[in-house]
Amino acid sequence: MSTPSQEDYLEAIWVLTDEKGYARVADLAERLQISPASASKMVRRLHDAGLLTYERYRGFSFTPQGRRTGRLLYARHQILERLLTQLALGSREDIYRIVEGIEHHFDVTRLEQIGRLVSYIDEHPDWWAKYLDAGPDSLH
Ligand code: MN
Repeated sequence: MSTPSQEDYLEAIWVLTDEKGYARVADLAERLQISPASASKMVRRLHDAGLLTYERYRGFSFTPQGRRTGRLLYARHQILERLLTQLALGSREDIYRIVEGIEHHFDVTRLEQIGRLVSYIDEHPDWWAKYLDAGPDSLH
């Protein structure tokens, strides 16, 4: 696995902190399959960038700016995953891997446009089924 980018960290921190409001370096390291030292280094960097705050004994949590960014990055992953799933592009695992590869190239300012398409497809299943049926075999 390649080194997770800062965006991967923020996305993972969003997932980890969504329920409890905070996370620990050890949880982050486990989720990203990296060493605690690497996770700790990035947490420091994100803290210096104003995206995380430390809470003694509890670990770290997002600042409002960090939370906004993390939420957007997580939403971007989900939207792309939904789109590739609608396109029946592969197994769940395949699609996850593809999204991990391409998501960083999608500007979050364009999320809404892709989100609209994904929602439209969900709301018009008959129309979408017709589209898939009409397409090349490679779609299936
Ligand atoms: Mn992702």
